[in-house]
Amino acid sequence: MGVFAKTVQEPMFRIMDLDFSEEEISRYARHILLAEVGGTGQAKLRAARVLVIGAGGLGCPLALYLAAAGVGTIGIVDNDVVELSNLQRQIAHTTARLGMAKVDSVAAAAREINPLVNVVPHAIRLDATNVSELVSAYDIVCDGTDNFPTRFLVADACVLSGRTLISAAVLRFEGQLATFKPHADPEGPCYRCLYPEPPPEGLVPSCAEAGVLGAVTGVMGTLQATEVLKEILGIGQSLSGRLLIWDALSARFRLIRLRRDPACPLCGAERKWHDLSHHAEGTTRVCFV
Ligand SMILES: [Zn+2]
Repeated sequence: MGVFAKTVQEPMFRIMDLDFSEEEISRYARHILLAEVGGTGQAKLRAARVLVIGAGGLGCPLALYLAAAGVGTIGIVDNDVVELSNLQRQIAHTTARLGMAKVDSVAAAAREINPLVNVVPHAIRLDATNVSELVSAYDIVCDGTDNFPTRFLVADACVLSGRTLISAAVLRFEGQLATFKPHADPEGPCYRCLYPEPPPEGLVPSCAEAGVLGAVTGVMGTLQATEVLKEILGIGQSLSGRLLIWDALSARFRLIRLRRDPACPLCGAERKWHDLSHHAEGTTRVCFV
């Protein structure tokens, strides 16, 4: 995949320190016991940098599990403050922290679980001028936004920067999850192969309009964390090229095969987009699940 060669660094091949303190060996003992993880895997987790976009219903459990797992650097992007209506599902926030910046609230919760990891709050609003630099500073990007302009902006920036995107979405009683890494998986699509354009405004309701069962966001954020850990460790079967759909009411999981679009304007052989200039100036208000 020559088209990506220039932009892709190999983040997972960062030089790893395999020395662990006594505290780390105790803290991560249940990981290190797993043959698929072991000391080397735990060192990979410690060397990894993961960006969590949205400190909401998905981002809260995601950030907490990544911190607990010992992912060394966890960036969190959000520019909202904690509101009472968030607490039904956004489990890293507390009643005492109402009014606090969400990034600071999640960072506080993550550090309480694991002070050994570096949690980096980014209290910014993402737009075409700042997204690429931020995404490039991390190995894996997790999207949990409830806003199509931002979702497409992040997805495009990940392809252009050669970063793996693990994207989750929830609405009412249903969740979806997929991994996009066309730079690493020749068969795997990008988000644009699946959805060429954002839906017309108003066609897909947001959680604020249609509601969501709180625990559904917890399950999907936890599945998203599991896929992040799998990608860092290089174990199991990636969700690249597959879409996981969970319907909580019928208690059914389904997997749908996703195909790469050879004519995709972003990852196709004759791609027409080489930067983010096809995105409008600024974005609409960012609202996180
Ligand atoms: Zn594509």
